[in-house]
Amino acid sequence: MATVTAVSAARDRTDVLIIGAGPAGLSLGLSLRGLGLAVTLVDRQGEAGLADPAYDGREIALSLRSVEILQQIGAWAHIADDEIAPLKSANVINGRSTAALHFDPTAVGEDALGCFVSNHVIRRALYAEQTASGEAALMTDATVVGLSLGAEGGVVTLADGREIEAGLVVGADTRFSAARRMAGIAASQHDFAKTMIVTKAQFQHPHDHVAWECFLPGGALAVLPLNDGQASIVQTFAPAEATRQMGLAIGDYLQAASHRLKHRFGRLTSLSERFAYPLVGVYANEFARPGFALVGDAAVGMHPVTAHGFNLGVQGQAILVDHIRRALKRGRGPADARALGAYERDHRRLSAGMYWSTLAIAELYARESLPAKLARRLLLDAGRRLPTARRLIVKTLTQPLAAH
Ligand SMILES: Cc1cc2nc3c(=O)[nH]c(=O)nc-3n(C[C@H](O)[C@H](O)[C@H](O)COP(=O)(O)OP(=O)(O)OC[C@H]3O[C@@H](n4cnc5c(N)ncnc54)[C@H](O)[C@@H]3O)c2cc1C
Repeated sequence: MATVTAVSAARDRTDVLIIGAGPAGLSLGLSLRGLGLAVTLVDRQGEAGLADPAYDGREIALSLRSVEILQQIGAWAHIADDEIAPLKSANVINGRSTAALHFDPTAVGEDALGCFVSNHVIRRALYAEQTASGEAALMTDATVVGLSLGAEGGVVTLADGREIEAGLVVGADTRFSAARRMAGIAASQHDFAKTMIVTKAQFQHPHDHVAWECFLPGGALAVLPLNDGQASIVQTFAPAEATRQMGLAIGDYLQAASHRLKHRFGRLTSLSERFAYPLVGVYANEFARPGFALVGDAAVGMHPVTAHGFNLGVQGQAILVDHIRRALKRGRGPADARALGAYERDHRRLSAGMYWSTLAIAELYARESLPAKLARRLLLDAGRRLPTARRLIVKTLTQPLAAH
């Protein structure tokens, strides 16, 4: 049954309607608080699934910029200290080489690159803050099936036939966004033809909160360090091999992973089931149209290798709200064309280089051809010899939110 919390049970007119109460949509709902706007969030999931989402195997590497935004919008306070795992540094290894490219936050005066928080914990925290504040209306079990846009905003149709009119409609409904499609916005999609398998394990030996990204023959393997000697093991395989790997007994699967890690961390003991994610990158051709905007994965759906999907989503919505705030101060509405144009420009500036370089890196490291192997070695050697480039990468992870 559909439920609506807060403001009104059957609002048919709202200032901002957000399709999707995932991390991006909920962050946007919270960022819009205090602006005097009527905000409605609509999600096809039930209330229980949104309030207390199940563990989904995703350990999100949050940049310091994202943490800052989550603090500003009140969600961070709902996350317990022991749910935050520091990311002290990161090593990247190419093939069977023992030399690692090391990313060290002390190079830019920080003591951590960021931290890991489970995706379900972030979602739960955002939802808790959303319902505690009660400023926005939240409609659950409500699937958006229609959208029409005009000069005065948009009209959204739900699966049960209800219609909601909004000055600004925002699509935050996954990388396979129906809203984006219904708004007539095309997107570049890149199917990596790879599947990522994630699972949580207890390590016998300490990981010292250092992340490892190993580009190994047969597919990449990453170790994401969590608290209490636990870690997430992330492996990427061709789809048929991923199906085979998912069919292995979990003990055999972890033993093979430990072998690929040269038993650096000793015995690995299973702490969760495995989750498989087919890898598809998406970049929308436009982030805004009159009366409409895209945020989160619906705008930019990243390959997880550079751990920037959520980070871009949470930073993108902050940019959108910043421009809406300025428009309201000048007496204009939330769908002000200049505000949406500025969001389009700024979010593209933030995300385009990141998206396309991530896509190139993911492709380069997925290939087993000789030129690809040579290019990888050159890239890592260059990285090792160029501390300035490494410092720049560390800086993009740690620097405070840039003013625009
Ligand atoms: C294995 C893995 C690891 C990752 N690791 C990282 C990382 O380390 N760092 C990082 O920054 N990012 C990471 N990401 C990316 C991150 O998880 C995503 O970028 C983020 O979850 C996207 O949030 P979103 O709100 O845009 O979309 P989603 O989380 O997909 O939420 C979309 C919401 O829209 C709702 N919805 C969809 N369609 C409709 C409809 N028609 N009507 C109503 N509601 C609808 C859905 O129910 C859902 O609640 C990772 C992703 C994966 C797969």
